[in-house]
Amino acid sequence: MKPAPFRYHAPKTIEEAVATLAAVAPEDGRVLAGGQSLVPIMAFRLARPAHLVDINGVTALARLAVDGDKLSIGACVRHAAFHKPVVDGPLGALLSKVVRHIAHYPIRTRGTFCGSVAHADPASEWCLVAAALGAEMVARSAKGTRTIPATDFFRGIMTTALREDELLTEVRLPILPADTRCGFYEFNRRAGDFALGMALVTYRVAKGVISEPRVALGGIEAQPRRIAEAEQALVGRAPNREAFVAAATAASAAVDPLEDAVTSAEYRRDLAGTVTRRALEQAAA
Ligand SMILES: Cc1cc2nc3c(=O)[nH]c(=O)nc-3n(C[C@H](O)[C@H](O)[C@H](O)COP(=O)(O)OP(=O)(O)OC[C@H]3O[C@@H](n4cnc5c(N)ncnc54)[C@H](O)[C@@H]3O)c2cc1C
Repeated sequence: MKPAPFRYHAPKTIEEAVATLAAVAPEDGRVLAGGQSLVPIMAFRLARPAHLVDINGVTALARLAVDGDKLSIGACVRHAAFHKPVVDGPLGALLSKVVRHIAHYPIRTRGTFCGSVAHADPASEWCLVAAALGAEMVARSAKGTRTIPATDFFRGIMTTALREDELLTEVRLPILPADTRCGFYEFNRRAGDFALGMALVTYRVAKGVISEPRVALGGIEAQPRRIAEAEQALVGRAPNREAFVAAATAASAAVDPLEDAVTSAEYRRDLAGTVTRRALEQAAA
């Protein structure tokens, strides 16, 4: 099928983009970034936006830079930008490990980091990264700019705090301290598929015990989130199998898993524990 008719807008500046969005949002005007999610759902006529605001010509949105203690990822930065570490240290290494799990190479050359975050698929790897690391989302409209913390941003399946006239101009990730240990483990049935479940963990070790643990799950619940119960099971313990199993058990018990035609909630609950333990083991290796 072909998409329903729409009007195409190609702004060149952020100001022009948000002004256009303000004008067309009431008629289901949408931002077009990499098009790797929006175009297929338009082709299936699951979405019929009357206007598309194509941001690919806004050069200011292609910025990927370190600002102080944050990595700023502009709205036009593609997934493929992360194939090689974009910053020294554990954050750059983590992002280049995670990106290889997103779809396939051609999709990664077009799809954008911010497009994934705005689309908010529960199984999006970048949404998990944002939730796990405590990203800040910068949303701009004709009325002004606001910064939304990850804990407020993700609201459910493909639902975020972004208003229809807001452009997500950038996502800011904290630069991780050099001694941060990171693990990412994803399970799916075929390479390139969306995750059935995945875990991202980070922690530091001080005097032989775990400090500042972060344990977050994606693809398990309606939105990615940190699992406080699993983190509490790690604090102050040596990074060993016993602690990891305790955290995995806590994660499995804490989640409210999604269920679909092929995957039961019980399966996803079990998977939550498995991916948590494997991510923790990877971080310790
Ligand atoms: C076969 C296939 C497999 C895939 N597998 C995976 C996978 O394993 N993991 C994964 O995470 N993704 C996967 N994807 C999705 C892909 O990563 C998309 O690139 C991503 O979800 C959306 O980014 P985009 O730039 O293409 O956004 P678009 O498709 O252009 O937009 C998606 C939605 O977000 C909105 N939007 C986009 N950018 C902004 C912005 N800056 N501000 C406000 N709203 C915005 C759009 O209006 C639209 O509603 C897959 C896609 C395909 C086709």
